[in-house]
Amino acid sequence: MTLRKLIKAAVISIMFLLPLLLSADQTEKNLEELSNVHGVSGFEKPVRDILLKHWKQLGINCKIDGMGNLIGKYPDFSDKKPTVLVMAHMDEVGFLVTKVDERGFLRLQPLGVWVDYVTWAQKWTVGIGDKYITAISGMDPPHVLSDETSMPPVSLNMLFLDTGLDRKELMAMGARPGLPVTPAVKFEILKPGKRYAGKAFDDRAMLAVMLDLMKYIKNNKELFSKVNVVFAATVQEELGMRGARNVYSSLKPDLVLNLEAGIAKDYPTQFTQDCEPKLGSGPTIFIYDWSMMPNQNLVKALAAIAKANKIPMQWESEYNYGEDASCLQGAGQGMPAVNIGIPVRYAHSHIGIMDRDDYDNTVKLLIAAIVKFDKKSIDSMR
Ligand SMILES: [Zn+2]
Repeated sequence: MTLRKLIKAAVISIMFLLPLLLSADQTEKNLEELSNVHGVSGFEKPVRDILLKHWKQLGINCKIDGMGNLIGKYPDFSDKKPTVLVMAHMDEVGFLVTKVDERGFLRLQPLGVWVDYVTWAQKWTVGIGDKYITAISGMDPPHVLSDETSMPPVSLNMLFLDTGLDRKELMAMGARPGLPVTPAVKFEILKPGKRYAGKAFDDRAMLAVMLDLMKYIKNNKELFSKVNVVFAATVQEELGMRGARNVYSSLKPDLVLNLEAGIAKDYPTQFTQDCEPKLGSGPTIFIYDWSMMPNQNLVKALAAIAKANKIPMQWESEYNYGEDASCLQGAGQGMPAVNIGIPVRYAHSHIGIMDRDDYDNTVKLLIAAIVKFDKKSIDSMR
C-alpha cells in the first residue's frame, strides 16, 4: 500500500469513526429514551413525539400520515434524484385491556406475538390517559400446586393483571377496556459501551440507528448528493405490517432499506458453534423471511460494501418473521428492498439484550451503502 493510499484509508476510517465516537453518549441516551417509552401497536404517539423532536432538530421536514406513520424528507428533496427509503417501526409488543372485572382484575388481548409462558409473574405498565400505573400478571404459587399434574396449562387466555386497586378505584381513574399495556422495564447498561438490556429493542434500537444516520448526513451533506434519503417510522408493524402499507404513497421510493431486530440465537438453548446471528458479530442481512424475498442484487451489493469497508455482517433467515419492507417491495412498479437486522436476544419478551458493536456497525453499513448508491446502481439492481 502506498503512503497516499494509506492516508486515504486512514481519512476514510476517521470519517466513519469520528462521528460515532463523538456521539457515543448521545447514542446511549437515545437508546434509553426510545427503549423506555411506552408505545404498543396503535398507541405509538409517545414514540413519535420523541422522534419528531429529534428529526426536526436534525433538519428533516416531518409529516404524519393518516395511519400515524412519521414520514421524513430533507428540504432539498429533488424529483430528479432516486429516493432511498430508510424505515423502522415504532410499535412494540404488548397487550390491550379488554375487561376490568368486578374485582378490578384486568383481562387482556395480546398485541403482537407473545410466547405464553413468558407473560406470567411479570411487572407491567398500564396507560390510563397520560398516566401510567403498575400491574402484576398473577400466577399460582407452589403452595397451591400439589404436584406437577395440577400445574395449569399456561395460556394467554388465562392471563390477568393485578393493579392492587379495586374496580371502583380503577374506574375513578378513568380505566376502561381499550387501555395499552407494556412491560414495566427500564433500559440498563450491562457492560459499558458494549451490552445493553431493555424492552422494545425491536424496533426502537433501529429508530436510534436512524438518528445516528441522520446526524451523519447532516454533518456530511456533500457525500449524499446523488440520492434523496427519506425516512419512515411506521405504526402497527407487530399486528401484521399495517402501517407500512401507506408509506409508498407519501414517499414513492426507488429502494428500501428496512431496519429491524434480528433474532440472536447464541444462548444455551439455541447455541451451536456456527449459529447465526450472534451478538457482536455485526448487522444481519436477511436472505429470507416469510413476508419477503429480498432483491438479490441489493443483498449482494450490501455484502460487498460491508466487505470493502471491513464491516462485519451476518446472514439471517427467519421463517416466523415478517417485516415492513414487504409492504413497499411490490408497491407502485416495485422496487429493490432488503431487511437489515441488529441481533437481539429474547425478542418479544420483557427484556432483550443487544450489543453496541452491532449497533455501530449497522450505522456504518448504512452510511457506506447509501454513499455508494446512485441512479445507475439502483437501476441496475432490478
Ligand atoms: Zn420488529
